[in-house]
Amino acid sequence: MSQYWSKLVHTLTPYVPGEQPKLQNLIKLNTNENPYPPSPKVLAAITQATSADLRLYPDPGSDRLREVIADYYAVTPSQVFVGNSSDEVLAHTFQALLKHDQALLFPDITYSFYPVYCGLYDIAYKTIPLNAQFQIDIEDYAQADGGAIIFPNPNAPTGCALGLAKITELLKQNPHSVVVVDEAYIDFGGTSAISLVSQLPNLLVVQTLSKSRSLAGLRVGLAVGHPDLIEALNRVKNSFNSYPLDRLAVAGAIAAFEDQAYFKLTCDAVINTRQKLTGRLQELGFEVLPSSANFVFVRHPEQDAATLAQRLRERHIIVRHFRLPRIEQFLRISIGTDAESQLLVEALEALLA
Ligand SMILES: *Cc1c(COP(=O)(O)O)cnc(C)c1O
Repeated sequence: MSQYWSKLVHTLTPYVPGEQPKLQNLIKLNTNENPYPPSPKVLAAITQATSADLRLYPDPGSDRLREVIADYYAVTPSQVFVGNSSDEVLAHTFQALLKHDQALLFPDITYSFYPVYCGLYDIAYKTIPLNAQFQIDIEDYAQADGGAIIFPNPNAPTGCALGLAKITELLKQNPHSVVVVDEAYIDFGGTSAISLVSQLPNLLVVQTLSKSRSLAGLRVGLAVGHPDLIEALNRVKNSFNSYPLDRLAVAGAIAAFEDQAYFKLTCDAVINTRQKLTGRLQELGFEVLPSSANFVFVRHPEQDAATLAQRLRERHIIVRHFRLPRIEQFLRISIGTDAESQLLVEALEALLA
């Protein structure tokens, strides 16, 4: 605390990201990073962009990247916004599109950055409980009354996905509300709502290259929606940072979207490992929520989650435990390689014996 701080800073409760331990030789299953490296073509593109041109500012609109993304999703570049991580895209979205007289609605169990942005931008919000199966019931959002709605699909940290039919119904049910679908994990088994944006002017879909494209370290995120929604994001972006994406990030991101074969290979590998791990965990007595993401959310009827996380840690395996209402007995375990998954199962077998 300091007398020099602005009033706002005194009120902030910042987001706490999962630990990035300095220790080597850990099995790191706590922040949903991809266990596979980025495509070799991404690394080659970044190397090539590492040139004397770095003395020049990048393109403020990242036009080439937006064209590649527009082609990939069969939309127009005017429907695409890019930013320095999806967290930044989300931040601009909260400020540009989610602050209204009516409260913003999001699930009680969800990405814990949402209430943090509400604090930063002074946005009134109301949380809507997931049902007893930890699923989103879209009927519960009928009360939006013109206030905006945001949720991840698949949801975090549950991993549970909502189908496109339900999302369409939610948007039609709330034509006066902006609905933001945060698709950080969509490539691991969900169906993207981007195919709906051209019919639904109130839908904004946000994605990241951090998870399914193995680029958490490059910080690239995007949003797709009606050009009017994108214009709102550009107004905020151009009042904040004209050049959010640097030359290396743009080069890497373009190469990532162009290497479709590598993307499919690594996504399929993660999905395959998730399916095998789910079976092994169930054999060990865990309840595993149905996951369409690169993590599983699990609880054991006889084991305290915090204790289990601590015991795994002593064996150099790091998973995520949230000390939050309704989910304090769950662990969120990121999907690693098959070898990491095997070591995790062996550690759990030893701990439960
Ligand atoms: C990981 C994650 C993000 C943030 O992704 P970045 O692009 O790395 O900032 C956003 N939303 C959800 C739900 C996430 O899990």
